[in-house]
Amino acid sequence: MTLSDEELERYARQIVLPQVGGVGQRRLRGARIAVIGAGGIGSAVVPALAGAGVGTLTIIDSDVVEISNLHRQPLFGESDSGKSKAQLASDFVRRLNRFVEVVPLRERIDRENAAVLLPGHDLVIDGSDNFATRLAVSDACVKHETPLISAAAVQFQGQVGLFRSRPCYRCFVGDAFDADDCDNCAELGVLGALTGTVGSFAALLAINTIVGVDEDQAGKLHLFDGAKLEWRAIRIPPHPRCKACGSA
Ligand SMILES: [Zn+2]
Repeated sequence: MTLSDEELERYARQIVLPQVGGVGQRRLRGARIAVIGAGGIGSAVVPALAGAGVGTLTIIDSDVVEISNLHRQPLFGESDSGKSKAQLASDFVRRLNRFVEVVPLRERIDRENAAVLLPGHDLVIDGSDNFATRLAVSDACVKHETPLISAAAVQFQGQVGLFRSRPCYRCFVGDAFDADDCDNCAELGVLGALTGTVGSFAALLAINTIVGVDEDQAGKLHLFDGAKLEWRAIRIPPHPRCKACGSA
């Protein structure tokens, strides 16, 4: 797979990076990434990955745009109210970069469709807004050995982590939230600058993962305090009795 002259010009400022180069750019072009949630985090993830030249993006979101989304979801404008986020985000990608194949899926991810829709991707990025979806996504990624980047932002707190089978996201949060839609932005509030920060971090982690910049990110959770403006990282220990990735 060679890069065309047009691609070499388009991606020149990242191909010149020694960590990327032509090899890394071809890896990006060959990558298939699923982005779950075209909300605040997705609004940062999707442009960054499309701009970087990720070959295939699947954008999964069942929601339509509401006016209260616009403060944190710059993929959309006022005239988009009531329209499908997955479709609009895909239209954005097509305008930005015709070298990216984009697949909009207007679905809400649950246990059943996660097992069908997520396999076949090299990486899943979950920026959804509830634990039931996050755990369904995580369990499917463990089962199919698909790397998962989980990203969340609420109030002034953000978190981003890469999970490769074990430890998994469920090792971190436990089993209490499987059927629970608690803890989302509608109730707790969030700033657009925070979701943008966390989403951009998740996109950078995704690009590094595909290119192979740092192989030691799996199982590490990055926590952002948007009030103190500080990042810190913790290691997630594998839970011995995790019902997704544990030996039991
Ligand atoms: Zn686990």
